[in-house]
Amino acid sequence: MKKVLLIATGGTIASKQTDNGSLAPDITSEELLEYVPEAKDICQVTAYQLYNLDSTNICYEHWIGMAKCIEQNYQKYDAFVITHGTDTMAYTAAALSYMISNNRKPVLLTGSQKSIYLRDNDARNNLINALIFACDDMSTGVHILFDNKVILGTRARKTRTKSYNAFTSIDFPEVAIVDGKVRRYIEESEQSEVKFCCVARPSLFVVKMFPGMDSSIIGLIGNQYDAIVLEGFGVGGMPNYDSDGFYQEIRRLIDNGKIIVMTTQVTHEGSDMTRYAVGHRLAKLGVIDAEDMTLESIVAKLMWLLGRNLNRNHLIKEFLTPIRWDRLQ
Ligand code: ASP
Repeated sequence: MKKVLLIATGGTIASKQTDNGSLAPDITSEELLEYVPEAKDICQVTAYQLYNLDSTNICYEHWIGMAKCIEQNYQKYDAFVITHGTDTMAYTAAALSYMISNNRKPVLLTGSQKSIYLRDNDARNNLINALIFACDDMSTGVHILFDNKVILGTRARKTRTKSYNAFTSIDFPEVAIVDGKVRRYIEESEQSEVKFCCVARPSLFVVKMFPGMDSSIIGLIGNQYDAIVLEGFGVGGMPNYDSDGFYQEIRRLIDNGKIIVMTTQVTHEGSDMTRYAVGHRLAKLGVIDAEDMTLESIVAKLMWLLGRNLNRNHLIKEFLTPIRWDRLQ
């Protein structure tokens, strides 16, 4: 029987109602397991309480904590299941995909829209299916399992706030469907030795463009952070009203060694700055095109690369190098 480490970090799955009727994490990792007695027939699970947080409060330090917890237990277990709040689960999944490379052992993140203690909930189904996928001989690497779907850690996004089918695989096929048994659509394999690089530095800001936005904000933010992600319109570009202020600010920041990445507010098909004149001139200036990467992967990858203290050119080269299908070139 395979050995699985269940790492509990909080989220709705582990929440109970507080006195004012709102939900907050309270259920322990051991208690989570008591709600799924059939887990004993699937694998030998050990429960470990790493955090008990609403995932709104999970940040890069917790990503590092989770990656280190897996590193410390890597030889002792065959697979890892992390229970996590859904709100920032996609960011954590992306971050772990970068921090743990050549990872042959499955790391499954799961959670739920309804708490595990309620009579009707999606929590038990998600947890059991996560354990089933974690124990499948063909499983490797970081994924989210939610509502029977297995989604690559670098491709997941929360697209529904309340429904059970809360996650979507963005511009990439689902890896598998698990409903008591595994139906696999994508085969993955890792040949080399696992490597952990558990670092991150959050010197980063994401700017969502809106019509009529004032360009001065770019300069103000740029002075504070090492990297800026511009969430532009369509395939990506910046307006040239405002005395060409956007262009001037971005040029000044790039001259000062800042990393500027262009992505899109549109969910599917990514950015392509070369398409229109409003983007083309930025590409020439050295703004980096995120193409089809999700915002979650862009943020996690940039924080991870900033944490490695690479020089600007090296960082850009690594950012553009695909990892776990985060960009398809
Ligand atoms: N706010 C919760 C969290 O992300 C939502 C959930 O788990 O579904 O922790």
